[in-house]
Amino acid sequence: MREQLEQLRLEAVEAVREADSEERLNEIRVRFLGRKGELTGLMKGLGALSPEERPLVGQVVNCVKAELETLLEQALVRERDAATTRRLATERVDITLPGRRFRQGSKHPVTLVIEEITEIFAGLGFSVAEGPEIEHDWYNFEALNFPPEHPARDMQDTFFVEQEMLLRTHTSPVQIRTMLKQKPPVRIIAPGTVYRCDSDATHSPMFHQIEGLMVDSKVSFADLKGILTTFTNQLFGQKTGVRLRPSFFPFTEPSAEVDIACVICGGNGCRVCKQSGWLEILGAGMVDPEVFRHVGYDPEQIAGFAFGMGIERIAMLKYGISDMRLLFENDIRFLKQFQGGATS
Ligand SMILES: [Zn+2]
Repeated sequence: MREQLEQLRLEAVEAVREADSEERLNEIRVRFLGRKGELTGLMKGLGALSPEERPLVGQVVNCVKAELETLLEQALVRERDAATTRRLATERVDITLPGRRFRQGSKHPVTLVIEEITEIFAGLGFSVAEGPEIEHDWYNFEALNFPPEHPARDMQDTFFVEQEMLLRTHTSPVQIRTMLKQKPPVRIIAPGTVYRCDSDATHSPMFHQIEGLMVDSKVSFADLKGILTTFTNQLFGQKTGVRLRPSFFPFTEPSAEVDIACVICGGNGCRVCKQSGWLEILGAGMVDPEVFRHVGYDPEQIAGFAFGMGIERIAMLKYGISDMRLLFENDIRFLKQFQGGATS
């Protein structure tokens, strides 16, 4: 048995010496040391030996096993180093080849306008507030003074999700959510996506609005006009004429539509302004006392104004885009024109 062991040891040492790959070394390990390997097989024969011989031969078997394991481990390290060296020698990168160019993306014109408007209002002390796009009827309508069955609800064709849940038809519910959370003074703008059942060249079922709200102990209509004039001057250029016309919204009283002097013709009359010289860009008004009561504010103590505008409309005027659908088709040739900001 000792001779058998010695024979096996020599064979194994020779095999390890000749092995020229990691794969081959693994085969050798299995052949000699594996569960059905040759050395393991010999160990099973120990039982047939006499009690005196058994410990001695057992010791030799363990020595051979340890030696083989060490040899295999060393050979494996050697083989891995050699493989790395071989790979380094054969794989070469030609660093003179030109690299792959990454095309630079551009911001969508709607995003650009939202960012610009947000920045202007930030300069006037307004912070940004947000709310959910799937909204409860109460926040979208009732708290804003649209009672159930009120005809004003027909002004906004609504996508209902279920009985009292809907896709918000305007960003105004963010006003309600903000006032419920915080005490006056409030000075926020709320940009976001809104939804209405409507689709043609100037309407999209999904579009964007920015809503503004300012509430404090002494806020007047003059403040509203001042803030909006500052805003339109900054957005469209100094001395853009502004005019307010009486209007109606359920959540403001009095209410006004705000026009600016046509940015295309300068007020002389053209196709875009339908020869009127004016462009309607936003709706505004003093917050209706009923809305304040809904959120627990005392209309005797405070006052406020709110305004809202469609971002797409502003983007179309600012960049001279004639069809609103261009903003949603995502034609890369159209969008590329806005690389790095305004092109107007
Ligand atoms: Zn015009």
